[in-house]
Amino acid sequence: MGSGQVTDWQGKHVTVAGLGVSGIPAAKVLHARGAVVTVVNDGDDARAREQAAELEALGITVRLGDGATLPAGTELIVTTPGWKPDKPLFTAAREAGLEIWGDVELAWRLRGPDAAPWLAVTGTNGKTTTVQMLASILRAAGLKTAAVGNIGVSLLDVVLGDEQYDVLAVELSSYQLHWAPSLRAHSAAVLNLAPDHLDWHGSMEAYAADKGRIYEGNRVACVYNAADKATEDLVREADVEEGCRAVGFTLSAPGPSQLGVVDGILVDRAFVENRQQNAQELAEVSDVNPPAPHNIANALAAAALARAFGVPAAAVRDGLRNFTPDAHRIAHVADVAGVAYIDDSKATNTHAAQASLAAYESIVWIAGGLAKGATFDELVAKSAKRLRGVVLIGKDRALIREALVRHAPEVPVVDLDRTDTGAMLAAVQEAQRLAAAGDTVLLAPACASMDMFANYNKRGDAFAAAVRGLGA
Ligand code: ADP
Repeated sequence: MGSGQVTDWQGKHVTVAGLGVSGIPAAKVLHARGAVVTVVNDGDDARAREQAAELEALGITVRLGDGATLPAGTELIVTTPGWKPDKPLFTAAREAGLEIWGDVELAWRLRGPDAAPWLAVTGTNGKTTTVQMLASILRAAGLKTAAVGNIGVSLLDVVLGDEQYDVLAVELSSYQLHWAPSLRAHSAAVLNLAPDHLDWHGSMEAYAADKGRIYEGNRVACVYNAADKATEDLVREADVEEGCRAVGFTLSAPGPSQLGVVDGILVDRAFVENRQQNAQELAEVSDVNPPAPHNIANALAAAALARAFGVPAAAVRDGLRNFTPDAHRIAHVADVAGVAYIDDSKATNTHAAQASLAAYESIVWIAGGLAKGATFDELVAKSAKRLRGVVLIGKDRALIREALVRHAPEVPVVDLDRTDTGAMLAAVQEAQRLAAAGDTVLLAPACASMDMFANYNKRGDAFAAAVRGLGA
């Protein structure tokens, strides 16, 4: 089927793998274009039957309760990004020499001839924040744009919609990249790489390789994190368009072809005339909200992509000033008796929690939940000197407690043997007892929330409610 935009779907036999948020719209769109669509789905529950009935009414075939067998005559598979690559359906498809596309690949292939270029972002942590900063900067430059993709806005809807955009700020997950073989971004950034989702990808190498696909065919810039060599290695391995440049971001003074920080100023030494001698001031560190180190890195990555697209320096500053982060990402809840209470419930893995802990000097840390197979030694060892105390909650808290015994034995630990929702109130009260004026009480659990809460939002809300109960 080549690798470009696809226009002729008439009579083509397409199997859509998985009902759900991306499967249903994909099936409808392909059917409307004349393809012969079969949807296969593992589940066969009431909800699946309802969805199947809706599609069947349109003339789409749906096979419930068997997502493993390849329907006869299939010429192409379009999959839900979350389906694991080792599924028998895919093995059979590969043996038959078929292409397998995810939701992002489908959007890429269906976009119109005058479609907006994509500025793409991936990484283990910081994707959503960076993409939103990027969109804010592009808007400040007067460009029509949207933050789309893994952020919760379907690329398919956007590329097929009536709105004409100048450029898109696209968040991509490692799953989506795995299934997007022909995607070619204008420019792209990999923010960082830490082990995550390894059960899905099979190995760290496979995970990194999927993230690295974001650089394939970039036209203007491959943006990497100078403090994370793995991201730079991915740039080196990528096959890019002639003239495309590697651009690093760093929290230190930037070298030529980098963006970095000098005396509290974000500066660009990549997209300037004569970069051996010149640098362009973009914004002040205080323009970044919140000005925590990892978030300054996010801002530099966003700035690099915007500058690659030709955005002037003043728009970088204005866009960063206009940006407010989503809830539960280092949100300042209140100051109570000289102690700051910070909600970073979104820190659901150790890499994110480490970034958050690095942002404060003296911390009472509330941590714990579902560890998802993580180990905590490195996180605790790196953060030990900042810890005034620790309050542990949740199912896998013993793993963190053991790491604290090994690497921070003198730090007081309150181990709350509770996983009920009300435990957050007790955790906040314990944290208050451990904290002194000038400290920060930081909810950065390094774990998923589902043992105690419906999701990380609810966990953060419970924290904020408990803090407000302290009588701010
Ligand atoms: P993602 O979309 O990749 O999950 P978010 O922007 O939603 O990323 O941030 C998730 C969490 O990751 C934040 O709450 C913060 O704790 C952490 N984080 C954000 N940016 C970074 C970064 N550059 N490096 C490490 N951790 C980060």
